[in-house]
Amino acid sequence: MRYLVLLLAVPFAVKAQYKYGIKPVTFSGYLRQVAENPDKELVNLGQFIPGVVLDIRYATTRNFTGEKIYNLPRAYARRPVAEALKRAQQEFALHGAGIKIYDAYRPYSATVKFYEIYRDTTYVASPYKGSRHNRGCAVDITLIDLTTGSELKMPTAYDTFTKQAWAYAPVTDPEAGRNRKLLIEVMHRHGFRVNASEWWHFDFAGWQNFEVLDIPFEELEEK
Ligand SMILES: [Zn+2]
Repeated sequence: MRYLVLLLAVPFAVKAQYKYGIKPVTFSGYLRQVAENPDKELVNLGQFIPGVVLDIRYATTRNFTGEKIYNLPRAYARRPVAEALKRAQQEFALHGAGIKIYDAYRPYSATVKFYEIYRDTTYVASPYKGSRHNRGCAVDITLIDLTTGSELKMPTAYDTFTKQAWAYAPVTDPEAGRNRKLLIEVMHRHGFRVNASEWWHFDFAGWQNFEVLDIPFEELEEK
């Protein structure tokens, strides 16, 4: 029955989602790639990184679209990305801080949806290129206090699409400035680069080696 549903669903998906010239890798292609190269595996970060906190906004209505985009609150990233983030978490712990993840791997279909809602590619990825989130090579994160679990003060809230959210925008609150500096410096030491217009977004160096994917979390968990 499941196969029948897939056969019926695929032609519609091609029309609706893949009209921007990108043909993302779907589940069967992904499994073949992982068999050839274990680095391509999407690793469940909630299970892989001790103490990491998930606040997956796109699995709720608390995001800029006001809609629930994901069916499950999950954070996945390719294996080398997950390993680097785990090392960053260890370094943050030396400062009494830990990582909270807002978003990580994002299926390509979600990027198309964001673009069709928002259209401004300063803040949402172009569906003609896809996002580094679609490659399993970007994370949206902030820091929490390891003892209280509460978020450390940052210059803006997540997904604030203003200049105050730029990674190196001047900050009036010195505490927010210090926290942002710690976040960016540690992430840079572990192979990530901050996005110039979003202090919370980090791309993993080498993202070019990973394809755009369109696999819902449900399929990853069925394997
Ligand atoms: Zn992001």
